[in-house]
Amino acid sequence: MRMTDRQGRPVRRGGQAGAGELLELVRSGQAVTRGALQQVTGLSRATVGQRLERLFRAGWLREGAGGPVGSPLGGRPSITLEFDDGHAVVLAADLDARRARAAVLSLTGEILAEHSGTLVVEDGPDVVLAELGHWFDRLLEKAGRPPTDVCGIGLAVPGPVDTGLGQVVQPPMMPGWDGYDITGRLSRAFTEHTGAQAVPVLVDNDANLMAYGEQRAGHPDCTAFVLVKVSTGIGAGVVVDGAIYRGIDGGAGDIGHIRVGADALCRCGSYGCLAAVASGGAVARRLAESGVPAASGADVGDLLAAGHPEAAALAREAGRQVGDVLATVVTLLNPGVLMIAGDLAGTPFLTGVRELLYQRALPRSTAHLDVVTSRLGERAALIGAGALVVEHLYAPERVEERLRALGV
Ligand SMILES: [Zn+2]
Repeated sequence: MRMTDRQGRPVRRGGQAGAGELLELVRSGQAVTRGALQQVTGLSRATVGQRLERLFRAGWLREGAGGPVGSPLGGRPSITLEFDDGHAVVLAADLDARRARAAVLSLTGEILAEHSGTLVVEDGPDVVLAELGHWFDRLLEKAGRPPTDVCGIGLAVPGPVDTGLGQVVQPPMMPGWDGYDITGRLSRAFTEHTGAQAVPVLVDNDANLMAYGEQRAGHPDCTAFVLVKVSTGIGAGVVVDGAIYRGIDGGAGDIGHIRVGADALCRCGSYGCLAAVASGGAVARRLAESGVPAASGADVGDLLAAGHPEAAALAREAGRQVGDVLATVVTLLNPGVLMIAGDLAGTPFLTGVRELLYQRALPRSTAHLDVVTSRLGERAALIGAGALVVEHLYAPERVEERLRALGV
């Protein structure tokens, strides 16, 4: 059997597997006893023991409560090993145009404390990220965890992100954020408000993180997963073989600015973008023109939830326009699951998507496609951000360095 980690990379074997590989095998459930680890890695019993000892001392692994299980090597039953998620927590935040949500999460993705409130992206990164530092401090107190327990921070933003730089790149919905050092500023806000040492900060596009969270939570066996977020703007996240597909510099999935031929002016400065005619922002504008008070995707979501007939008709039409673009997306990527999420993701919008998607896409592309709605709802990006931080920090190639820093 070929062993791989959750990013599809082969696990080193033949005596080369380090503590990081052993941790990965346990965390992924591929080998959870000393005997199974020996068998999978080819390491001797003594070497497995030494490497596990370091993981025990770090507090990252523990012996499971489940009791002994049969060993693949025969002999005495083995004690199961499990990831000890009590030794640290992750902070995560999700920014939308005018609201934000933040949380303290366990390393296995459980939300320990959560807050949502008004935070206006257009106020600029300095104001917004400083305020998030304040939120994080209060949330840690609410969760009863000291700031020294935080191992990393994940942030979801409504714009294209170059994850290598930790910056957003020409984000139409985030004026003043282009090229700004988001990770550095958020790290500083965390240390200023909590007094703790700096921790790694990862920033990614919100649709990417929603897709990552939803795929892992509800569709772990789906190897080609697409999520489309339709709120004030429109974006898509693609998860292939368990990893976010970002393209070469974070531009993948930015379907809101595909030209659909209309003449409406988009926030990006071009005319005729999908987001200019079929986003929550576009629907809100059309409602406002006919005297219904609405300014954002969230307002449209509230009207849809209340069964407002004009909002429903406009959402269905927006769904048809998005469905037309998704026919191309589905033809290119051949996903197993297409998830529609965000403020507009209700029955009228989905009906519109299905009408055009099945009419325009090749039957071959949609034969095994499930079109579904969100399972994690408003928490999807938070859970995805938390998971991304954990996968980054506990990846085999980073474990050795982190263990050495802990002195074990
Ligand atoms: Zn545009």
